Amino acid sequence: MRKIVDSHLHISRWGEADFISCFDNYNGKSVCAINICAIPFYQSNVCNNIMVGLYKLANPNTYAHGGIEIIKIPLDNMPNGMDCVTQYRELMEIGFDGIKMLEGKPNEHKRMGQNLNHPSLNALYAEMEKDGTHLLMHVNDPDEFWDIDRAPDWAINAGWTYTDGTFSSYEEIQAQTIKILEEHPSLHLTLAHFFFCSKTPELLEKLFSLYPNLCVDLTPGGEMYVEFEKNYDFFKEFFNRYHDRLIFGTDRSYLGDDKYADWLFNVVTTFLGTGESVVSFDNKTLKGLGLSQEKSDNILFGNFERRVGEMPKEMNKEKFRAYIEKYSFALTDEDKARLKPLVEKYL
Ligand SMILES: [Zn+2]
Repeated sequence: MRKIVDSHLHISRWGEADFISCFDNYNGKSVCAINICAIPFYQSNVCNNIMVGLYKLANPNTYAHGGIEIIKIPLDNMPNGMDCVTQYRELMEIGFDGIKMLEGKPNEHKRMGQNLNHPSLNALYAEMEKDGTHLLMHVNDPDEFWDIDRAPDWAINAGWTYTDGTFSSYEEIQAQTIKILEEHPSLHLTLAHFFFCSKTPELLEKLFSLYPNLCVDLTPGGEMYVEFEKNYDFFKEFFNRYHDRLIFGTDRSYLGDDKYADWLFNVVTTFLGTGESVVSFDNKTLKGLGLSQEKSDNILFGNFERRVGEMPKEMNKEKFRAYIEKYSFALTDEDKARLKPLVEKYL
């Protein structure tokens, strides 16, 4: 059986049975650990951090990435004692294994109203760089989302098109991200979804050469797998050269139905480790790269473990209780009622 760590997924639904079944669904599929990423700015506010922390307590092979709760926009107006760096410290003390940010996704970026180089965020990156803490960031989206004629229907339906002039451009968000690296060159940054650069991989090559701790993950964006297929020879060389900079993940937001995960595991493991062809996102065949076992293991689990740890961090229940108490003002009554039995059981 192959060993796999799913480095990037989300949890948003409730229910004790659902809560536990997540992990059961992964057992038996070679997935030895998962990393759940809270995205409080996008969903459930601080409640999402708490759910992810409880999930980690309930399932010992779970890593957790917490998110900064942006209590007040703009960031300069965050209440005392709840600035980004303080929140980061709290999450680390609880036992989160890293930080996830979705604030570079164009719609969230617009809602935040500030760019990714805001001084409050810069202070956060500086702390994380100093500590060697892993930061997983979603920045940008596929470039066709800025062009209504090229955007796919599913993106239009999800409200993920950025054509009305109120959104930052692909180039602007990309430039802000590169500036983070210029200012924090040792940051352990993983850019989700291949940094949406599958059409311009030479940019990634340049960034990899400058920033030794930079990685990208291979979570769909199915469009990247279509590019891998179109430029097979180029990407065969690319994957062989940068096998230590690429990280597997599914980006699933709930694990109740695991057919998609099964399918994706099969596509990616076939693509990386064999010379066989497999049907990919555009219903055409993706030819396998035939990487060595060592190189595909790096992508499937090794790179993640080296960056985040071979085991999830221990949780500090006392600090976790204090966190829930401190931020309970930001929870809805419904959240509180749903959290209560889980807190009683696991904390
Ligand atoms: Zn994600």
